[in-house]
Amino acid sequence: MYEEAISHEDVAESDLVTRRGTFRAVAFRADGHEHMALVHGKTSMRDNVLIRVHSECMTGDIFGAMRCECGEQLDAALNRIVAEGSGILIYLRGHEGRGIGLVEKVRTHVLQDEQGLDTLDSATSLGLPVDVRDYGPAVRILKHLRVNSVRLMSNNPDKIEALESNGITVAAREPLLMRPNDHNIGYLTAKRDRLGHDLPQVDAFTTDLPRAVDR
Ligand SMILES: [Zn+2]
Repeated sequence: MYEEAISHEDVAESDLVTRRGTFRAVAFRADGHEHMALVHGKTSMRDNVLIRVHSECMTGDIFGAMRCECGEQLDAALNRIVAEGSGILIYLRGHEGRGIGLVEKVRTHVLQDEQGLDTLDSATSLGLPVDVRDYGPAVRILKHLRVNSVRLMSNNPDKIEALESNGITVAAREPLLMRPNDHNIGYLTAKRDRLGHDLPQVDAFTTDLPRAVDR
């Protein structure tokens, strides 16, 4: 689909030493946004490369918001890549609120807090789509990085389909299950029941743990 994965004017890379270890930071432009692939260890021409395709979430990733599990998943994915010794984290911009943008995402938070709407209904009641994320930039950078096949850290079966239909071989899906909390259990339940995400830990939270009593 993408013959020329990414032209050289749209990509730059350098070493990036982080608290976790050293990555190759590959910045690239695609579809009007600037994205980043963090490559750890040897991944070029390899099979079964451990990857995470992470959708930008400023509130969760940077500020540690507990109303979603994005920040924890980002940390866990990077930790797992370093523990394994190789892998790639692709950080996709333009994916706030499953593609509606930061301002609209915060508008959905208002409806969630004030009217009890879930993550889907709060978007649709504003006339916004539930999910308009485009994974094309992830496909292009994986081809640029010459990865043969991947193990995808995700709970979202649709993401496998999005990669495979664009020529990326997904050899396996690796669950990335975060422990729910009182602030995100509703969000996770909606993702499980209405978006088809595979989230077995949600059952454990609702059945095993007594709900906190007001203090
Ligand atoms: Zn989030």
